[in-house]
Amino acid sequence: MATFKDFRNDVKPNWCPGCGDFAVQAAIQRAAANVGLEPENFAIVSGIGCSGRISGYINAYGFHGIHGRALPIAQGLKMANRDLTVMAAGGDGDGFAIGTNHTIHAIRRNIDMTYVVMDNQIYGLTKGQTSPRSMFGAKTKSTPKGSIEPPIRPLELAISAGAGFVAQGFSGDLAQLTRIIEEGIKHKGFSFINVFSPCVTFNKVNTYEWFKEHIVNLEEDPTFDPSNRSLAVQKVMEHDGLVTGIIYRDPERQSYQELVPNFSEAPLVNAELKLSDDVFASF
Ligand code: SF4
Ligand code: MG
Repeated sequence: MATFKDFRNDVKPNWCPGCGDFAVQAAIQRAAANVGLEPENFAIVSGIGCSGRISGYINAYGFHGIHGRALPIAQGLKMANRDLTVMAAGGDGDGFAIGTNHTIHAIRRNIDMTYVVMDNQIYGLTKGQTSPRSMFGAKTKSTPKGSIEPPIRPLELAISAGAGFVAQGFSGDLAQLTRIIEEGIKHKGFSFINVFSPCVTFNKVNTYEWFKEHIVNLEEDPTFDPSNRSLAVQKVMEHDGLVTGIIYRDPERQSYQELVPNFSEAPLVNAELKLSDDVFASF
């Protein structure tokens, strides 16, 4: 059985020392081993940005796609090779700017795969511009007087799009992040995982220390219940999105594959995917 070391390769990441993406890489490697995957059964598709390099830094199948398009590629991959465990990974610019439409529709479609967003609230690769996740008032190279646009709220967005699995982790807590990714891989359907992954070079506000001061771990809140959708939204809003843990999970929500009864046997070309009456009865 593979260990996390089997998911390492000999490519040296060129992320800045201290970049949050190192912890995401380690968490994915550990989670893949913990759920019993082998490198030959696992594929990671990434977008463009510093985070996009992650597909080359893990010993598995990797595809470094184009900006904002990791999700369509990953969904196509899963449809073509249905036995593969597929993960898409990218940054907040990739997932919440140019790729927002894919994020929403992939969540809605609910193909069985995992999406990990490395959210550093800035564009790092292009050296520090305001991203759709930058805070209101954020001073960057593109908004030197402060951003006047409020940030996208990924957790509420994912829940309202109909996600069956929504979680948020932090690169400063590897153990929790690993657990969240494990649960995301095991979930039968589309798993949305946002990760606070600090950019130590260009974001001097949302630092590890800043997150440690502001984050509320919902796993430690005895009043919280991740199966309660309205409570999940309420808690996220109460803490202004600065929460970690599994935020919402609906194990009953049927995946795309489950709604197509002959999915696993259907040929890839000119597939006759016959939907049975009970599929529609379930809506
Ligand atoms: Fe990480 Fe920021 Fe460096 Fe990019 S610029 S590698 S996001 S620390
Ligand atoms: Mg970013």
